[in-house]
Amino acid sequence: MGLASLNNLYREIVLEHAQYPQNKGNLPKATHEQTLHNPTCGDTITVQLQIQDNKVIQACFSGQGCSISQASASILTEVVQGHSVDDCRHMVTAFSDLVIGQEIEPADEQLLGDAAILGSVAQFPTRIKCATLAWKALYQAIGATEEGR
Ligand code: ZN
Repeated sequence: MGLASLNNLYREIVLEHAQYPQNKGNLPKATHEQTLHNPTCGDTITVQLQIQDNKVIQACFSGQGCSISQASASILTEVVQGHSVDDCRHMVTAFSDLVIGQEIEPADEQLLGDAAILGSVAQFPTRIKCATLAWKALYQAIGATEEGR
């Protein structure tokens, strides 16, 4: 895909998710959650997960901030549902590589779905922390599950 069309797609996806966030709200059955702040932009994201048998049954987010932080959180809650905790860790790593402009495996890109398009944020270094905030929260939220296994 050319850079120009990728940029358009990126803008479209950010705008759509920022305007109509998916899974925004409180998850009463949450088993795992984490809140993180991005002081450089003022974004706050709480990621809540319901994990059963090592699998994400449902994911929600809440918080405030710029459109990139909100869109990234919204996309995250969509793409992690149904995946194992290990998959989620893998997705966080792949996403973190992508946003700093590193190549990732096609299989990882597929795993990330729409989140892979958000990787175009690599061109805007000041916004990288906005894009990764929800993913860092996800990582920390599921970090706690290791102990129980
Ligand atoms: Zn931000």
